[in-house]
Amino acid sequence: MKIITTPRDMQAWSRQRLAAGERIACVPTMGYLHEGHLSLVRRARAAADRVVLTLFVNPTQFGPGEDYAVYPRDPARDQALCEAEGVDVLFMPAAADMYAPDASTAVVEEALSRRLCGASRPGHFRGVCTVVAKLFNCVRPDVAVFGQKDAQQALVIRRMVRDLDFPVEIVVAPIVREPDGLAKSSRNVRLSPAERAAALGLSRALGLAREALARGERDADAVRRRLERELAASGLRTDYVEIVDTRTLEPAPLLAPGVLVALAAFAGRTRLIDNCEL
Ligand code: AMP
Repeated sequence: MKIITTPRDMQAWSRQRLAAGERIACVPTMGYLHEGHLSLVRRARAAADRVVLTLFVNPTQFGPGEDYAVYPRDPARDQALCEAEGVDVLFMPAAADMYAPDASTAVVEEALSRRLCGASRPGHFRGVCTVVAKLFNCVRPDVAVFGQKDAQQALVIRRMVRDLDFPVEIVVAPIVREPDGLAKSSRNVRLSPAERAAALGLSRALGLAREALARGERDADAVRRRLERELAASGLRTDYVEIVDTRTLEPAPLLAPGVLVALAAFAGRTRLIDNCEL
């Protein structure tokens, strides 16, 4: 496995592989890899000749007071996992190599980004779109794989790719969970035992939404309130509980098959998200 640390070297590698007629798949991550990330790598390998995993904790997608400084990092372990998974290139640039001190250009998606996580994390998707656009320009992938765990992110990226004509196919892979239902996340390592137990409230709340649909409940707002109570009873501080149209992220008045139930809540200081499409 090759480790590449600068955009220029990354572009040179990709130029060669593309000239040789190979297809490149990209898996963008912030590292501290877990089984969710590795499932994306396997999906990527099935879709291309070469897999590039990018590891970059992107400062511009964290707001002031968020967890950029304490975001879990273990590049040596990530490297070993990538090696074992048959990744061809681990692209791990330093922030100084990605952003010039006077960088003044950004990519802003202006509709989907306003909702859900975008409402509680202003500027988050501006940072995400900008860094993903940059990573696409470095890696020049034919296909990029994202996780349904970040459902809104995947939608925003798809929209960006469509609107700006990036020649990249976007694949979205299912959420990988712990045996007890907690969605795998790099941030889970920061949970105390009590917070880890409380965090199960998220997947439990999603289960309640599925049960409500199965029972024939149709009032999305009543279900939303029920889920909020479940998060609170679990010891979580709700950021949002939303029942929305899967494509537009507009609030859905009726609980119906195909709507997206999206949750964000704090366990202590750690913000967790989860979702399911009913
Ligand atoms: P992150 O490193 O958290 O920014 O995530 C990098 C990519 O992995 C994103 O596309 C995430 O949606 C995806 N991902 C994170 N956790 C999971 C999970 N539990 N299951 C599937 N994909 C995931």
